[in-house]
Amino acid sequence: MPGFERFDHEEQKQIQEVMDTGILMRYNFEALRKNRWKAKELEEKISKSLRVNHTQLTSSGTTALITALRSLGIGAGDEVIMPSFTFVASFEAILFTGAIPVIADIDDSLTLCPTSTEKAISPRTKAIMPVHMCGAMAELDKLSKIAKKHGLYLIEDACQASGATYKGEFLGTIGDVGCLSFDFVKTVTCGEGGAVLSNDADVYQYCEQYADHGHDHIGNNRGAEDHPVVGLNFRISELHAAIGLAQWGKLGEFIEKQRRIKTRIKNQLKSQNRIRFRRIPDESGDNASFLSLILEHETAARNLAQELINKGIPAAYWFDNDWHYVKKWHHFKNLKNDNKLYQEHRDMLPDYATQDFSASDQIIKNVVSIPLSLNWDEQKTDEISAAILEITQQQTVEK
Ligand SMILES: *Cc1c(COP(=O)(O)O)cnc(C)c1O
Repeated sequence: MPGFERFDHEEQKQIQEVMDTGILMRYNFEALRKNRWKAKELEEKISKSLRVNHTQLTSSGTTALITALRSLGIGAGDEVIMPSFTFVASFEAILFTGAIPVIADIDDSLTLCPTSTEKAISPRTKAIMPVHMCGAMAELDKLSKIAKKHGLYLIEDACQASGATYKGEFLGTIGDVGCLSFDFVKTVTCGEGGAVLSNDADVYQYCEQYADHGHDHIGNNRGAEDHPVVGLNFRISELHAAIGLAQWGKLGEFIEKQRRIKTRIKNQLKSQNRIRFRRIPDESGDNASFLSLILEHETAARNLAQELINKGIPAAYWFDNDWHYVKKWHHFKNLKNDNKLYQEHRDMLPDYATQDFSASDQIIKNVVSIPLSLNWDEQKTDEISAAILEITQQQTVEK
């Protein structure tokens, strides 16, 4: 799965080029930087390879999400619909802007269920935020249609899906705005980093300013710049961007390797009927960072995850995961009593603690995901398939 498995001389060379000048800041210092602009170069590279007009790098995927939400004018009292299965950053980013996270169910694509999404729309709803979990896409056609019908923005959280596509278009470039993460465990890593993608020049201009204290970036005297918007410091450093440049160049190779591993395992598991695969709306666009299996029942899924881990094979059982699934988001469920929020904001939050997520539970409790390693050769891959088959066969006998 992660690009950190493939650090080599290319990352080192990139870092060295930054250290040669010592200018770690992405803006200004023209006289000293020997025309090295790593962040700008990475932005151009991403825009070109994803065929999107604009890319704004940020310090993380989380700050990319906040920037993206703000760029569409989302804030106080606006509702944003997000899935019950994601990373906590989705919720955090929406809440941070003063908006209201509205959690809808997922379906067997492990992403936002279109029917549940449409049901969650209220007069306050401003945006739908699908999350392309584990390298593969949400039902973008259906969600785009719902967004259009109700006059809502579509914000793509593609933080886990760098390089994945849907019907030939790159994830993150299809909605009004999209976000990538380059944190340490993502497909491409900068150590820490993120990106906002958009085809809209105004959205981009807002992001570019917002992520750097509102600076207009006109001229070459930072102290004399105007500030058209109120912003924050969500900048990426030149060192992080330099690592990203080396990593981004390897994205195609990462995905190809992941796809080879995934196809091999899937073919080896195809003949049995105890395991289904996660439904992927456009199979050919999957970046294949994970293999997600749907077992027949909760006991079988728990058993598979545990037995794989016992054998030293990485496996995630999301139903028990504090970070990724709504069931254990206790800190969010307690927000209705958190007096550090404005009373009005608290009052508008749904009562997540009593909300019914049984439709999501029914799916996620049977799911086991295996993060695919770039280091697995064919032999290792075959061992993993054999382990999955062995564990699930035993389970059948016991049942
Ligand atoms: C990783 C991730 C984020 C946040 O990215 P960071 O760079 O870690 O801040 C947001 N959403 C999803 C779905 C993620 O997986």
